[in-house]
Amino acid sequence: MASELEPEVQAIDRSLLECSAEETAGKWLQATDLTREVYQHLAHSVPKIYCRGPNPFPQKEDMLAQHVLLGPMEWYLCGEDPAFGFPKLEQANKPSHLCGRVFKVGEPTYSCRDCAVDPTCVLCMECFLGSIHRDHRYRMTTSGGGGFCDCGDAEAWKEGPYCQKHELNTSEIEEEEVKTFHKVINMQIDNEYIINILSHREKSDTYYCMLFNDEVHTYEQVIYTLQKAVNCTQKEAIGFATTVDRDGRRSVRYGDFQYCEQAKSVIVRNTSRQTKPLKVQVMHSSIVAHQNFGLKLLSWLGSIIGYSDGLRRILCQVGLQEGPDGENSSLVDRLMLNDSKLWKGARSVYHQLFMSSLLMDLKYKKLFAVRFAKNYQQLQRDFMEDDHERAVSVTALSVQFFTAPTLARMLITEENLMTIIIKTFMDHLRHRDTQGRFQFERYTALQAFKFRRVQSLILDLKYVLISKPTEWSDELRQKFLEGFDAFLELLKCMQGMDPITRQVGQHIEMEPEWEAAFTLQMKLTHVISMMQDWCASDEKVLIEAYKKCLAVLMQCHGGYTDGEQPITLSICGHSVETIRYCVSQEKVSIHLPVSRLLAGLHVLLSKSEVAYKFPELLPLKPHHTRANILTCTNLCLREMFDKDIVMLQTGVSMMDPNHFLMIMLSRFELYQIFSTPDYGKRFSSEITHKSIVIMLNVCIYTLSFLAGERFSPGVGQVNATDEIKREIIHQLSIKPMAHSELVKSLPEDENKETGMESVIEAVAHFKKPGLTGRGMYELKPECAKEFNLYFYHFSRAEQSKAEEAQRKLKRQNREDTALPPPVLPPFCPLFASLVNILQSDVMLCIMGTILQWAVEHNGYAWSESMLQRVLHLIGMALQEEKQHLENVTEEHVVTFAFTQKISKPGEAPKNSPSILAMLETLQNAPYLEIHKDMIRWILKTFNAIKKMRESSPTSPMAETEGTIMEESSRDKDKAERKRKAEIARLRREKIMAQMSEMQRHFIDENKELFQQTLELDASTSAVLDNSPVVSDMTLTALGPMQTQVPEQRQFVTCILCQEEQEVKVESRAMVLAAFVQRSTVLSKNRSKVIQDPEKYDPLFMHPDLSCGTHTSSCGHIMHAHCWQRYFDSVQAKEQRRQQRLRLHTSYDVENGEFLCPLCECLSNTVIPLLLPPRNIFNNRLNFSDQPNLTQWIRTISQQIKALQFLRKEESTPNNASSKNSEKMDELQLPEGFRPDFHPKNPYSESIKEMLTTFGTATYKVGLKVHPNEEDPRVPIMCWGSCAYTIQSIERILSDEDKPLFGPLPCRLDDCLRSLTRFAAAHWTVASLSVVQGHFCKLFASLVPNDGHEDLPCILDIDMFHLLVGMVLAFPALHCQDFSGISLGTGDLHIFHLVTMAHIIQILLTSCTEENGMDQENPSCEEESEVLALYKTLHQYTGSALKEIPSGWHLWRSVRAGIMPFLKCSALFFHYLNGVPSPPDIQVPGTSHFEHLCNYLSLPSNLICLFQENSEIMNSLIESWCLNSEVKRYLEGERDAIRYPRESNKLIDLPEDYSSLINQASNFSCPKSGGDKSRAPTLCLVCGSLLCSQSYCCQTELEGEDVGACTAHTYSCGSGVGIFLRVRECQVLFLAGKTKGCFYSPPYLDDYGETDQGLRRGNPLHLCNERFKKIQKLWHQHSVTEEIGRAQEANQTLAGIDWQHL
Ligand SMILES: [Zn+2]
Ligand SMILES: [Zn+2]
Ligand SMILES: [Zn+2]
Ligand SMILES: [Zn+2]
Ligand SMILES: [Zn+2]
Ligand SMILES: [Zn+2]
Ligand SMILES: [Zn+2]
Repeated sequence: MASELEPEVQAIDRSLLECSAEETAGKWLQATDLTREVYQHLAHSVPKIYCRGPNPFPQKEDMLAQHVLLGPMEWYLCGEDPAFGFPKLEQANKPSHLCGRVFKVGEPTYSCRDCAVDPTCVLCMECFLGSIHRDHRYRMTTSGGGGFCDCGDAEAWKEGPYCQKHELNTSEIEEEEVKTFHKVINMQIDNEYIINILSHREKSDTYYCMLFNDEVHTYEQVIYTLQKAVNCTQKEAIGFATTVDRDGRRSVRYGDFQYCEQAKSVIVRNTSRQTKPLKVQVMHSSIVAHQNFGLKLLSWLGSIIGYSDGLRRILCQVGLQEGPDGENSSLVDRLMLNDSKLWKGARSVYHQLFMSSLLMDLKYKKLFAVRFAKNYQQLQRDFMEDDHERAVSVTALSVQFFTAPTLARMLITEENLMTIIIKTFMDHLRHRDTQGRFQFERYTALQAFKFRRVQSLILDLKYVLISKPTEWSDELRQKFLEGFDAFLELLKCMQGMDPITRQVGQHIEMEPEWEAAFTLQMKLTHVISMMQDWCASDEKVLIEAYKKCLAVLMQCHGGYTDGEQPITLSICGHSVETIRYCVSQEKVSIHLPVSRLLAGLHVLLSKSEVAYKFPELLPLKPHHTRANILTCTNLCLREMFDKDIVMLQTGVSMMDPNHFLMIMLSRFELYQIFSTPDYGKRFSSEITHKSIVIMLNVCIYTLSFLAGERFSPGVGQVNATDEIKREIIHQLSIKPMAHSELVKSLPEDENKETGMESVIEAVAHFKKPGLTGRGMYELKPECAKEFNLYFYHFSRAEQSKAEEAQRKLKRQNREDTALPPPVLPPFCPLFASLVNILQSDVMLCIMGTILQWAVEHNGYAWSESMLQRVLHLIGMALQEEKQHLENVTEEHVVTFAFTQKISKPGEAPKNSPSILAMLETLQNAPYLEIHKDMIRWILKTFNAIKKMRESSPTSPMAETEGTIMEESSRDKDKAERKRKAEIARLRREKIMAQMSEMQRHFIDENKELFQQTLELDASTSAVLDNSPVVSDMTLTALGPMQTQVPEQRQFVTCILCQEEQEVKVESRAMVLAAFVQRSTVLSKNRSKVIQDPEKYDPLFMHPDLSCGTHTSSCGHIMHAHCWQRYFDSVQAKEQRRQQRLRLHTSYDVENGEFLCPLCECLSNTVIPLLLPPRNIFNNRLNFSDQPNLTQWIRTISQQIKALQFLRKEESTPNNASSKNSEKMDELQLPEGFRPDFHPKNPYSESIKEMLTTFGTATYKVGLKVHPNEEDPRVPIMCWGSCAYTIQSIERILSDEDKPLFGPLPCRLDDCLRSLTRFAAAHWTVASLSVVQGHFCKLFASLVPNDGHEDLPCILDIDMFHLLVGMVLAFPALHCQDFSGISLGTGDLHIFHLVTMAHIIQILLTSCTEENGMDQENPSCEEESEVLALYKTLHQYTGSALKEIPSGWHLWRSVRAGIMPFLKCSALFFHYLNGVPSPPDIQVPGTSHFEHLCNYLSLPSNLICLFQENSEIMNSLIESWCLNSEVKRYLEGERDAIRYPRESNKLIDLPEDYSSLINQASNFSCPKSGGDKSRAPTLCLVCGSLLCSQSYCCQTELEGEDVGACTAHTYSCGSGVGIFLRVRECQVLFLAGKTKGCFYSPPYLDDYGETDQGLRRGNPLHLCNERFKKIQKLWHQHSVTEEIGRAQEANQTLAGIDWQHL
């Protein structure tokens, strides 16, 4: 089909291209019927451009559309070439002072917490940086797309509404009017056109099958269906699905009607099974074409009005002009009303146009707002039917004008907006019960879905109310109260909805319908408090609202007592009538919004003192509150709960407290207990009802709230600051908290503010965070006295934690552990009578009864917590009385006489002792040990008050203190004894705690230790050498002069069987758990990857170190056989487990991974523990008469020649062994060389096996191939891993300025020692001829011979790898040499040779840039000699080498360049030969150049090496320089690595996190044409930005689909990756395809906390220490291990599909 159409399309292209924009525009200018003319042009051209078969070419379409369609319009508009016309317009433009930048998805937005009128006011980054708010407390979020910058909107900001850029643009003059007037018509045509086309239908020949998106089907479902329906590949289907999701629609098939219809039916059939089917439409191709052009036109208009504000205003006028059909016929109206019929892409285009035109100035914003309000009900109705998210609905625009205070108020007064919103809301919730209340039972899924959508109306209501008026007009009052009526109507439908029966002793399941009712209540909470705020700002409104509210409440509960007989209650001579009510059996509802609103208004009245001015206006009657007494048992939601308490307090303050208490007891079904004498005794035996004890506890608890909670402004004489302070004090009494924890535990207002910052300094100290963890707030000690154990916002768990913490604190301060109630602020006058509840007769009766139960303590149904609560109440009463006495003035009498009342014994018929007497009895009760301190405090306070009353009121304080002093001296001895006992106990506790801590956290501690691998802390590390160091002896690590170390016996213990064993050559093998991994940490060339591992030759490491093999170990030692048994059992267990259910683990058994049995460190093989291997072979100690370098090279060359000859002989067939010996004679074997000799392997079988095991593992992991112990590359990989690991450790030490031989942590020391010795011993298990072959090749790279031709030039060899390889392969040759040359001599000569080659390498590549410090005359020996050497080089390279003027310069670069090599060599020979390091190198300091040279048997003037061996060196240097690659380099045709290589670092991160967000918001997916990436992810190693976690950027890797991050790790980090997920502010570690974890990001807010997921939005700044820590993990190759640990700790991590990230 496509191929058929192709030529046709091409042909049309040409005719279109010939079309001239200027001519067309000219024709239009002369046309009489312009509309017809333009329409004809469009009808002719649009289908040709946009109807081009199945596959759209967006760029081509855009190009043609600009040329043929938009171009003429631009010409017409400007009357000249738009290239000149538009800039002219732009120049003359007086732009709006509003910024109006429309936000892209993921773009950072800023809100000022100090100045924003509400949290919806935001700034773009540019405006923010240019505003005063950057120094204020701001909040940062990433935009979800949509919405625009509010810069310049004076109503949005309390201060600083303009940024620097938008400050000056305040002109409103119109001069474009005349010039652009005639263009109005043109615009109109365009707009008409859009409307016509978008809702146009017609039939003809070609069609598209158009798929639309919905919010029901998943990506996978769509992809699967499409593959079936239109027969496409998975890739194509993914493409379709991605576009549908992004744009809202995509054609999936092109052809005739039948063909498209068929695809449609398949799609519908496939998706209709569970849910409603996907929306598919077969559409005529030219319709689609016109629609596409329509969209293009809209965005074109958007850009055109950007040139001139005049044009923008014209567009607004045209858009709002009423059409021929009257009401609602303007373009804007019609677009809005068609919103839900349009697809996602079309909606967002016209929404954006609205935002950049209508919303850009107040005049049109106002007009538009009116249109919006008029259509409000219809728009909401459409939205309910629509299934798209609110973000793509036109209804979401409400935030743009509802939140503007003047607009909102205008809409309320003129359009009655409040009432409209509430009525619309009510319309959508039609299910009511018989009493007219909302009913959420039996909600279908669809209704539930709609219910969720309806909630956005509450949001609108919130927007409208967000700023309360400063001035009220009569009109506003009237409309607000009308809205308030509607609101009360709504609350009435909620009052008492969803009643439930109280369930004792079991949890109430969250039923879905219950949840719906609950959600509604929660959502309205803020609205209710905003309503109250509005009421509070005007007295008239407040009083009217109060009356209305009261009336509605009466309606709700009017018929409550119908038909019921009142009952009479009486206790202590008080009696009251009430209704019968049984809480345990009857239904209760927690939904009482009307009552709570009334409570809120009541408090406001109290605060504003209106109550006293208009007492006649307040028809307050106590009985209204009765019905609500029970609500306090449902302690669900704080806001509701607080209001309930206030409601009760209101009730009590207006009633006789005795009456109130009796009603309350009766409601709790406790009346009988206190009204009947001795009932308590009976009920303990007869009705042992647990629930009564619970009820009684709750009841007393509630009583303490009523008298004690005075921190709401209006109830007590406090302000909002006191309230928040108290909240914070109680939260911090539980434990020190981080900022975010504290914020979470505090109530937020509608601006999401807690007010915490203003008071926190007064009550808490801030403790900064360390490398891990968060900053913490700690309660100031002086605030502890304000602690109230029965703080009403404590949950039960919090309360007991706080109690424990506070008691502990008191013990630590050696105080008594009583937690008396705090001194409280006085009540407001309206609530003042509340305190009398504490001294009422019924209250005293309750207290007395419970105390009596405690005194007679056996049998009765009392509990300790009950007693504790009663003691607390008594304490409160005493504090109250004391307060009254202290504040009393001359003419007043203190009426609060609690002390007197409790001193009186009970009257007949009870004759019980007085409360005071009972307390004195209880003081000595042995079973009340823990309450003793509290009782003692009560008695002490009682005495103090008594004294105060007795003495004159002028000096009560002194008396009080005197009493306390007296008392304390009496208790002094006792206290001292107690104190000592306490100290002893504390010490004991501490020791016990330490011990158990040590046991329990052994592993944790180790983990700590491992994380600090290189924190060179002496306590966690062993001294490097276990042999005594003789400091005055010169230590030499290698060569004939090697320092002889007495042999050390080494004993180790197996962690598995705990058996101790000596490490010996012939004993069973001991092994270390080890982890081998590929590494690119040192890589200088990340683009290089091993292409074909089967053919790859690793013999020579390139100096770019692009891919190495790293070995690490946790240092834990096991028997080889113990480990084998352990590993087999792990494997068996894992296999069994996988059969049952495939559980993910943090380690991959199939790949040989396991966790160290002791520390759970991830491992994948073991290294055998060995003695220094050289000592085993180097038993000939006659060092006299050793050859010099020249002689040695000749000897070795001869030996190699002999070997090569023999090898050739062997490979030639028909060779008898007898003949062999003849040939040997012929060859003239070098003296003492016996190539037929095969040494005996000294190691035990078990050690040999482990040598093979580790060697094979290194080979397998390093090359990523199947294990093959016979492969000749095995020994090379072993040497390579040894060299690479040493190099990486040398880098870490240098980067941290640590001394080379400082105290290394044990596990590093053990690892390096075992690894080096293993690599040195490995040749004994490999084929001798293979190792000899490797040696010959390595040797030939420096000493050329005929056998080896194409070896790398010396610029392309890493010299340290070469050194290690040669030294470790050499024994294979040397073992056949019986001429008396020692192995040490060989080592020394190899080392010298390689060192000289490295110096040449450095000189050839030395950087020749001048730094102006040239010194003509060499001032020291080294400098003149190095200059001479350089001249020789210059000569050998045929003068290609650049002239270097300064020897000083050269010598410096040689010294600097060779340092890493010398350090690595020192480490290598140290571990190889076991010679202790010289003490000088063990301490940190500057360069240890001389000491290193001494230790390594080198002259400190390295150039001497060349002179001593000039005989052979001159010819070698010449041969190196003649290499063609060296020539190419010197001629500038290729590059080479320079020395010293710089250490790799993670990329530089910006200090301010928002600039990262901004960077990422500009990043678009590289594969889906300019689309914004959803999860932009930054590689911290190389700085690439990737489009992660998305279908668009999945690629195939080794036959599996992987996400962009996983794919990147393979090229950038050989499987290991460190990323920053920018939107989430989260560090991501990946290893392999299956492993990953999240790590805390290096960005902290001012409170020392990270913000993963950017939920809090506090400004974030780079924490360098934490970033360095991540870099260190990378340098130490610990990322994989970190992932393993995280996955072990958190099993859910293993379930995440890491490979798709
Ligand atoms: Zn802006
Ligand atoms: Zn601005
Ligand atoms: Zn500000
Ligand atoms: Zn063992
Ligand atoms: Zn371990
Ligand atoms: Zn990278
Ligand atoms: Zn992508």
